[in-house]
Amino acid sequence: MPIIIDGKSISAQILSELKVKGSQLEAQHGVRPGLAVLLVGDNPASETYVRNKIKACEEVGFHSVVERLSDFVGEENVLERIHNWNESKEIHGILVQLPLPKQIDEQKILLAISPCKDVDGFHPENIGRLLLGMPGFLPCTPAGIMEILKRTKIQVSGKHVVIVGRSNIVGKPLANLLYQKTEEANAVVTICHTGATNLKHYTQQADVLIVAVGAPHLILADDVKPGSVVIDVGTNRVPDPTSKTGFKLVGDVDFEGVKNKTYAITPVPGGVGPMTIAMLMQNTYLSAEGKVFNKY
Ligand code: NAP
Repeated sequence: MPIIIDGKSISAQILSELKVKGSQLEAQHGVRPGLAVLLVGDNPASETYVRNKIKACEEVGFHSVVERLSDFVGEENVLERIHNWNESKEIHGILVQLPLPKQIDEQKILLAISPCKDVDGFHPENIGRLLLGMPGFLPCTPAGIMEILKRTKIQVSGKHVVIVGRSNIVGKPLANLLYQKTEEANAVVTICHTGATNLKHYTQQADVLIVAVGAPHLILADDVKPGSVVIDVGTNRVPDPTSKTGFKLVGDVDFEGVKNKTYAITPVPGGVGPMTIAMLMQNTYLSAEGKVFNKY
């Protein structure tokens, strides 16, 4: 029987650890971790993501603020909010919910966030630190995948990890984390993308296969090496007339078809997804603690 990795319960465990650490930080140093979230426009998916992040803050006892700006807001107004939060003593993490409306230059906004408060880990300084193996904020989804591997005692050192997808937020940073010369990493990493003409040739060789594409059921049983570990990052909405919402979430991996061929596999939903929020809370705590950038 394969191990079905329960990201929901690993995430709950991390959140309960952070709740304890957060209240100790407040009791001992008078610092309550605080997260500021900027939401521009009324994209329903973004609303849901922001709601879940604020709920997680409440669960762990962190301070949170959400600033909602209209779809037509000017870039200067957005930059002003970020500048205020960069200076605020109560805010340790700043998150701008993407996507932003087209009149706003996303790169400019992300660069305006102080790297010391960049809890999404998207700032080039943090990406550079990750690459060099220096302390910094790790992007939440790759960090969540590393945490899943650690907490389920899946060793990747010396193993062949194949990642499908090379986005800036998942594939690229994850590859860089996995090949670091550290005990919990040290993997041999192959990264695939649309330039891979025979994807199966690579995925079939993977001891650990990580798929972050955004294509429902791209990976089938025949694409997977027997006894491997499969981590499915994909989150795809597909029509489902039996559901109240009219859709359901599926991964990039055909979970039912693939699971019995694996040693361990993450489901969608309930695998990588909940870990992303847990890592956001972890980064906010680490920022408040002040050790990542030696602030105090
Ligand atoms: P993205 O920016 O759209 O990147 C997709 C990557 O997949 C690209 O590198 C693309 O290659 C590659 N690709 C697309 N079709 C392919 C194919 N047929 N064969 C091989 N490679 C292919 O996506 P993303 O932001 O990384 O997100 C990927 C998925 O993960 C989405 O479903 C997203 O919703 C999900 N996600 C989940 C979480 C979570 O917390 N659970 C977090 C982030 C993302 P090219 O570079 O050549 O175009």
